[in-house]
Amino acid sequence: MPSPVSAEVIANAGLSDSLFWITLRHEAIARAARPGQFVHMRNGDSDDPLLRRPYSLSAIDDAAGTFAILYQVVGRGSAWLSRRRPGDRVDTLGPLGSHFAIEPGSRHLLMIGGGIGTGPLVALAAAAGDDADTLLINGARTADALLPTAFLPAAAELHLATDDGSAGTRGTAVDLMPEWYDWADQIFACGPSPMLQAFEAALKLQTGSKTVQFALEARMACGLGVCHSCVVTTRRGPKRVCTEGPVFARQDLTWRWETGI
Ligand SMILES: Cc1cc2nc3c(=O)[nH]c(=O)nc-3n(C[C@H](O)[C@H](O)[C@H](O)COP(=O)(O)OP(=O)(O)OC[C@H]3O[C@@H](n4cnc5c(N)ncnc54)[C@H](O)[C@@H]3O)c2cc1C
Repeated sequence: MPSPVSAEVIANAGLSDSLFWITLRHEAIARAARPGQFVHMRNGDSDDPLLRRPYSLSAIDDAAGTFAILYQVVGRGSAWLSRRRPGDRVDTLGPLGSHFAIEPGSRHLLMIGGGIGTGPLVALAAAAGDDADTLLINGARTADALLPTAFLPAAAELHLATDDGSAGTRGTAVDLMPEWYDWADQIFACGPSPMLQAFEAALKLQTGSKTVQFALEARMACGLGVCHSCVVTTRRGPKRVCTEGPVFARQDLTWRWETGI
């Protein structure tokens, strides 16, 4: 079980009013991390907010000993993070959870990312490198919520979708999936729960079976599998998003989140 460490802020770039890309240095985290995993950060100078905040890794640079996170300011913890400057330290636990797995022989990787859910897919596309053809669909409500293309791996082909049509195709990332379904050997998806459930519904309309991996989000407290606040019901029984997840195989998911545990 990892212990909390002090990660150094290298850069914290504002990409829009509420979207940020923070780069931190901690060699042991960068060395151990795999795409799909997350870190649990203490986003405050005191015990307020009390709980750590989970963030997926959007870039992992083992050689430089750094990792990066694409994040959105939605409340106190993320606002605190957005005020960190180079040289500041952030109490960080990780890497935590399961990771995406590219199967041997998979040549065509289709990645569907909604909003900040695109972050871990960027790390996965970078890890795939030239060993596979990657097509990444980045969907968001509006153009300013899309990840700037400079952050996306050059090897990946990129398609954009926005709800309002302000960039790329008008519609959602899920809407574009059927066009590429037959091409894909493996599919990876990450985004808000409603988007993932819409994606699951769209997959049901397709014929044939594919290996699909979903990275789920759930409210969590400890991040270490102890508190059981993030349990989802799977076909293999109750599983913790923080420990057995956040990456799950599609065939294991029932799309039911436990309550009252
Ligand atoms: C495995 C995992 C990976 C994540 N990766 C990212 C990421 O890469 N980038 C990113 O911007 N966000 C990510 N999130 C969501 C992120 O953890 C929340 O946005 C963050 O905790 C908000 O904290 P806050 O104090 O700013 O907001 P708060 O004021 O606490 O809450 C604002 C909203 O954020 C959500 N939220 C708050 N706490 C949690 C929690 N502990 N777990 C889940 N959701 C919460 C709720 O919807 C809440 O309404 C991830 C969540 C999980 C579970």
